[in-house]
Amino acid sequence: MILLPADQRTAIAAHVEADYPSEACGLLLGQRRNDRVLISQAVASANVSDQPHHRFEIDPVLRLRLQKAAREGGAAILGHYHSHPNGAARPSATDRAGIYEPDLVWLIAAVKDGSLLEIAAYTPWADGDGFDEVELSENLGTTK
Ligand SMILES: [Zn+2]
Repeated sequence: MILLPADQRTAIAAHVEADYPSEACGLLLGQRRNDRVLISQAVASANVSDQPHHRFEIDPVLRLRLQKAAREGGAAILGHYHSHPNGAARPSATDRAGIYEPDLVWLIAAVKDGSLLEIAAYTPWADGDGFDEVELSENLGTTK
């Protein structure tokens, strides 16, 4: 299960709606506890892809900065989020081809006409050939 607090869900919603119709993306910080992923902060990134309406690429400078902060005691990078403008909250073929780190959690936000429809969570298969959907919850003990 992935825990996404309501305030961080709101932050992701604001980001993906503001960047519509481009894809928006960001990194997810937090901690793992047993089989749970507890997200403490969603950090918006610039989408540095040269095709930002169809692809996303997280700013490598931001990633390096957050990795350095994690080494110095900050929250770990557990995953990332990106939006599908006028698409579904499901991994695309491009997403499947873009699995390089099977440990990372993926959140995909469907945005329709500038408004967030839904956010779904996925973990890549170890072989990188696909994804499993995982439960996304706002609170421990409740389900979406
Ligand atoms: Zn995608």
